[in-house]
Formats: sequence, C-alpha cells, structure tokens
Amino acid sequence: MQYILSLDQGTTSSRAVLFDAQGAKVYAAQYEFPQIYPQPGWVEHDPEVIFETQLRAAKDCLAYAEQQGAEVAAIGITNQRETTTVWDKATGKPVYNAIVWQCRRTADTCAAMAAEGRTDFVREKTGLVLDAYFSATKLQWILRNVPGVMERAQRGELLFGTIDTWLIYKLTGGRTHVTDRTNSSRTMLYNIHTLQWDAEILDYLGIPACMLPDVCDCSGDLGMTNVAVLGAEIPVCGCAGDQQAALFGQCCFRPGDVKNTYGTGGFLLMNTGELCTESKNGLLTTIGCSIGGKVTYALEGSVFVSGAVIQWLRDGLQLIESAAETEAIAHSVPDTGGVYFVPAFVGLGTPYWDSEARGLLCGMTRGTGRAHIVRAALEAIAYQTADVIRAMEQDTAMLGTIKVDGGASQNGFLMQFQADLLGQRILRPDNVESTAAGAAFLAGLACGMWKDPAALEQLPQGFTEYRPAMDAAERDALLNGWHTAVKRCTL
Ligand code: ADP
Repeated sequence: MQYILSLDQGTTSSRAVLFDAQGAKVYAAQYEFPQIYPQPGWVEHDPEVIFETQLRAAKDCLAYAEQQGAEVAAIGITNQRETTTVWDKATGKPVYNAIVWQCRRTADTCAAMAAEGRTDFVREKTGLVLDAYFSATKLQWILRNVPGVMERAQRGELLFGTIDTWLIYKLTGGRTHVTDRTNSSRTMLYNIHTLQWDAEILDYLGIPACMLPDVCDCSGDLGMTNVAVLGAEIPVCGCAGDQQAALFGQCCFRPGDVKNTYGTGGFLLMNTGELCTESKNGLLTTIGCSIGGKVTYALEGSVFVSGAVIQWLRDGLQLIESAAETEAIAHSVPDTGGVYFVPAFVGLGTPYWDSEARGLLCGMTRGTGRAHIVRAALEAIAYQTADVIRAMEQDTAMLGTIKVDGGASQNGFLMQFQADLLGQRILRPDNVESTAAGAAFLAGLACGMWKDPAALEQLPQGFTEYRPAMDAAERDALLNGWHTAVKRCTL
C-alpha cells in the first residue's frame, strides 16, 4: 500500500494530508500558527514556526501511514504564494520574519515605481500588476532595511525563497534550494516568457541573482528529505502555489477550464494552455503548471469579498446565526425584490480594480426584509464571480468546464444562481480538498503512482452538477441591475 503525502502550507495553518492511490484522503493533520502584525497594514510569519508546524503535521501523517503498514512514496508541496523569506545559507537561520502576501508595507515603493513608468515593464515580463502583493518589493525591503543583509546577500551568504523553497530547503537538511514555475511566476522577478529570472528587473530592484533558487517543473525531482529532519528519506516531487495546485487538483487540464474557490475571498484561475494571454480586462497572466518542461499558462482573477460577505451578515450585522442557514433564507423569497448588495468593503478586484469603491445596499423599499438582503448578499458573490469569468471569456474567447470549491461552494442556492447567471453548468466535486489533492497529483505523477493526467481524471470522484435554468432575458435584466449598482459605488 502506497500513499502520497501532501503538505499544504497556508496563511493561517500548516496542514498535511495523506492520499491513497484512488486519490482519496486517508488522513490529515493541521496546526495553526500566529499572525504577526508589527504595524497597521504589515503582516509577518515566523519562518521557523511555519516549518515546525508543517513538520509536526507531516510527522503525524507519517506515523499514521506506518500504523497502516503503508509506504509514503512521495511528497507534494503547496503553499501560500508570494510570502517572502531570506535566510543564512550556512546556518539556515532566517534574517527576518517572512513578509506575508497580505503585507502592504511596500505599497509606496510600488507607487513610486509606477510613477517612474514601470507598470508596463513589469506586466510585459511577469504578467503581473505592479503591486506590493508580490514578492519582489518585499525582498527588496528586507535587503534595504535589515542591517547588513544587502552586503551579506551580495557576498552570496544569503538565500531567498517563497514558502515552498523554504520548506524544501529545511526538509532536505539545507541541501536543496529550488522552487517551481508557478511559485516563481508570483515573485514579480520571473520572466514568464523566457522562463528565467529577469536580469533587468533584478538589476532595477538591486536584487543579487545569487540568492535566487533554481526553478523546476511542478512535477519531477525537487529534492530528497533528510532522515535527521523528517525521520525518513522521501522524494519531494510535486510543487505548486496554492491556487495553481487547486486548478490541477480540480483536473482543469484543458484550455478554457476554470476553477473558482469561494473562500473568504474568491480566487479564479482559467487554464489557457500554451497561450500566454495578456489580459485587457484586469486579469493577471501567470503560470498554471509545468510538467516535463511544458508550460501551461493561466489567467487569474480575484474577488476580494466573497464568503466574507456572509461572515459580515453574521458577525457585523448579526442578521444570521450561521453561514449555512443563508441557503434556506434565500429560498424563502422568490427574488431580492430589486435589492442589490455590492460588498465593496475593501474596494473592488477584477475587473474593476477600484480601491476607493465602498459597499452599497440599494433598491430597498418598505417591503424589503431580512431574506431579501441575505439573498442579495449571496447573489453578490455570484455576480462578482460572473464578472471575472466574463473577463476571462473576453480575453480568451474560451470557456470550458467550471469547477468550484471553498466554503461557500457548499451553498446550493448560490451554485444554482451562479449557473443561471453564467448560462453554464457548474461542477462541485464531493471531495473539496482540491489544493492538497493538486500537490499530491503532481507528486504522484512524478513517482509513477499515476501514469498521466488522464489517469487522474479516471479516479473515483462524485460531483454535484448545477445546470442553468434561467432564461436569457431575466439574466440580462439582473446583470444590468448589478452593473448599475456597481457604478453607483465606484463614483
Ligand atoms: P478560507 O479558506 O478563505 O478561510 P473557506 O473555504 O473555509 O475559506 O470558506 C469560508 C467562507 O465561506 C466564510 O467566509 C463563510 O462565510 C463562507 N461560507 C461557509 N459556508 C457557507 C454557506 N453554506 N453558504 C454561504 N457561505 C458560506
């Protein structure tokens, strides 16, 4: 009996999940770790704590596998993307906390770069919007602000890594300094066309190339764990950033296939195949996967407030007691009675990119009740998602299968309304461990547990299918109303 161990290093917890040859989850362990907020808008993690919690979760899984008499054939890693770490090559000690993707400390640096006219320079090379979200300016911040670090980096004494790189470095006992192409494509230092670290960007930001990891395929040899660290020698042979791992875990293997995660925020990725599409609609171009030297590109869009609007109904307004009850409440009325809710609490993401926009509840009458507002909140999640999917469709003229995961995808009302709005069927897998499964699939392909992606599609997996049932006129009228409401909150 063989298992694959998937390490899913997220923003708030480190998880480890064992999968069997059927692709089924057999065991999972999870440890949360503290968030560090040194100043408003700054977010850090302790890299040592990230590793300790991840190692503990991994060891729990190995112990379970041993109890079952199973062998762990390979390890796949998936991780919070963009989060930036620098450590000493000789001692493995971080020189500073990890700067987390959410951290806004370099927003001014990015604004200054934009003022120097660097927006197109960055987008053409990296596919990304010039933003503090990505690793580049975080790394530059550490080099400039931690005493002595720039000199040590220039002398070749320090290494940079996103969290995948850090975990592999630690698991291999400091022998291996690598990343994969999905993670490198989120650093804003990597040229997604030439598939190299971009010398011009490095030069512009003053980042020594010697601190960057080698960039590998997502599936293949990424290192061998050290017995002294993990208690076993196991090949690490799968790696992808969390959203890309979810795309792979959902088997979105064909150009046009989309996965949407309805979590706190909404994360959408479309596989665009060999086409490196430049978006005219505010989407990011990124690497979706690379296997056997063949790169698959993706378009990415995000909804800032997705499931979080339901949290707000519960904790902010205290209008509901649980997220789950919103489904029945929404069904208790035939429609919202003309109410629209634009949850632009922190501005609007794709395709609007308006950081000044704020939330709006409009169209209310004396007849408006709690159920209408709850329904409008759920519908808002679907409208925002539809806007991103339309943007993807406009950029690529493709739209394949749409697969969903994340907490709010459990809401049947939301899924049906989403299918209605898109005029397209939606598939929700019964197993919603897409992210961890994606990393396991990548590792399992490399170690021979599965022959090819087709074998992954054959694995037993149930789906709930939502088919569109709304006529086009009603859909257009609803979307018109939504877009009018969006305009009102972006004025
Ligand atoms: P994350 O990983 O971002 O923390 P999850 O994937 O766990 O998020 O999803 C949690 C989000 O989904 C919460 O914002 C919650 O309000 C929302 N949610 C959970 N269940 C439901 C439901 N049945 N209907 C609507 N929203 C839900």
